[in-house]
Amino acid sequence: MKLHGRVSKIEAQKTIDSLRSLGAIDYSYKIFSDKDFVYIPLKERVSRDGMEIIGLEGVRNELWKYPSKIRGSYDTIGSIAVFHKNIGRNVKLLARNIISTNGHIRSVYLDTGISGDLRIRNMKLLAGVDDTTTLHRENGIVLRVDLSGVYFSPRLATERMRVARSVKEGEYIIDMFSGVGPFSILIARMHSVKIVAIDKNPLAISLLKENMGLNRLKGNITAINEDVSRAMPGLSKADRIIMNLPHESARYVELARGSLRRGGILNYYEICDHEGIAARMQDFRAKGFDIVSKREVHGYSRNEMMFSLDLIKLI
Ligand code: SAM
Repeated sequence: MKLHGRVSKIEAQKTIDSLRSLGAIDYSYKIFSDKDFVYIPLKERVSRDGMEIIGLEGVRNELWKYPSKIRGSYDTIGSIAVFHKNIGRNVKLLARNIISTNGHIRSVYLDTGISGDLRIRNMKLLAGVDDTTTLHRENGIVLRVDLSGVYFSPRLATERMRVARSVKEGEYIIDMFSGVGPFSILIARMHSVKIVAIDKNPLAISLLKENMGLNRLKGNITAINEDVSRAMPGLSKADRIIMNLPHESARYVELARGSLRRGGILNYYEICDHEGIAARMQDFRAKGFDIVSKREVHGYSRNEMMFSLDLIKLI
């Protein structure tokens, strides 16, 4: 027998809201009604005005099984889950289920698109508290992010570690589109290096500076809030440049080339299809780069994916 609260239809919405804010509803069962009453499945005995507690067989909520099945359709960033597409009319119930089943998730949002140069996500709250700031942990570092004001994707965690592992002690690195610093912080945590991290979003740079304080770093990071076109020409030539602006990196290749020493490494990212990346690789060869590796980091759309290229500047 499953505990249910039985309330009159008139009282039902008020009681459901109050039980929900208490976290007392058991969403693995359905809320259902007959002619006069609404039956609310409960996790435990709680008392509410006008609600009688009764034991019933109840109706299992099949959607309850979805959180594991739909795991790929949302990302977890600290205490926030973000759906990237509307998976149907039950999305709000699923969002509530995610909060009930994952103790550390406080908010669930729907990503309704990324806009502008700063790549900021437009987000609609589906369940939980409306708070877009969180502390995200990956690869042994902690990052403060504010999803309403800066770009951040947890999907590059493995790639960031791959790049960080390839860095040599003493390198001088330019992180051209640093965001809150996931590449820079990880690399400076692992290596004694000098990094110049640039982003034109003031909030990204202010969070990057906070993240420098939150992590014990071996390396040194200089954070610059500026457009790369203005910031880069004054810098000395780097041993490595990271270009993580995957929809527009191509526009900045000449700028990066000019700031990279001969023999230096370019970690380049682009979202495109297979033909697009083949053409880009031709371009790089024509510009005097040797292609060390090409990887598919993750899928993006039916034909497109994020590619990573490791390149060496030969001439
Ligand atoms: N590397 C970070 C990460 O992995 O989370 C952030 C990558 S995000 C795709 C690109 C970043 O580039 C954004 O934070 C945006 O503000 C910044 N950006 C875009 N155009 C820029 C420019 N011309 N100069 C400097 N920063 C720029």
